[in-house]
Amino acid sequence: MEKLIITVAPTGSVPRKDNTPHVPVTTDEIVEDALRCEDRGASIFHIHVRDEEQRPSDDPERFAEVVERLEGRTGMILQISTGGRAGVDLDSRIKRLKAQTEMASLTTGSVNFPNSAYINPPDLVEGLAAEMKRLGIKPEMEIFDLSMINNALRLEKKGLAASPLHFNFVLGLRGAIPATIENLVYMRGLIPKESTWTASGIASAQLTMGVHAILMGGHVRVGLEDNIYFHKGQLATNEMLIGRMADLARQLGREVATPDEARKILSLKQVSG
Ligand code: MG
Repeated sequence: MEKLIITVAPTGSVPRKDNTPHVPVTTDEIVEDALRCEDRGASIFHIHVRDEEQRPSDDPERFAEVVERLEGRTGMILQISTGGRAGVDLDSRIKRLKAQTEMASLTTGSVNFPNSAYINPPDLVEGLAAEMKRLGIKPEMEIFDLSMINNALRLEKKGLAASPLHFNFVLGLRGAIPATIENLVYMRGLIPKESTWTASGIASAQLTMGVHAILMGGHVRVGLEDNIYFHKGQLATNEMLIGRMADLARQLGREVATPDEARKILSLKQVSG
């Protein structure tokens, strides 16, 4: 099997300091967290930013600041979130892309979250895909339910996304597809052979979905965006979650990819050094 790409989603939109003191929310905290995450084996860094009150922010300057501070200090692939909790309209979500990272997330349909609806209508999805294509940013297709796989494949058919596609299967969020191995196996079977995929289990499913993905030849996302616990009742840090997954992968016979190895696996253009 090819080496394992570990993505870390350190911040997200939901956890706050009163949920866990370990969640990085300021630019300084996010940058310092990133460097520790890279040391533990992460090769993709998924970026959300917050405002002064820790609320999700869609301020393109905040995204750009994190990216600028990391460039030159990290070899990790930077991935901007275009998620809608920080700002719902196309304009807000496109503006963040001017940070010009190698990757960005792209959710290809609508879904219920536990306490809200996450609305991604076709014109918004296509608008984001077109802008990523124009800027040479590789989308990570965020798949919360089966229909979103078809929607991603349609983007490729329309020339708005290039093969090989990269998918992130998000499992276990209340309102979206449940975190079972049957669902993971089924989803993997629906994507083109040449594409790559990552599993993101929510809450305690982060560990189980990650282990399944390691064994199935997929890749893994961990981090406090999706899960704040290491064990029940014991809060995690991002580097603890990465370190555990890296150790498990090695024990199960998979080496962990460096950022440049991840670039090759994902067919990203820019391979540094
Ligand atoms: Mg996210």
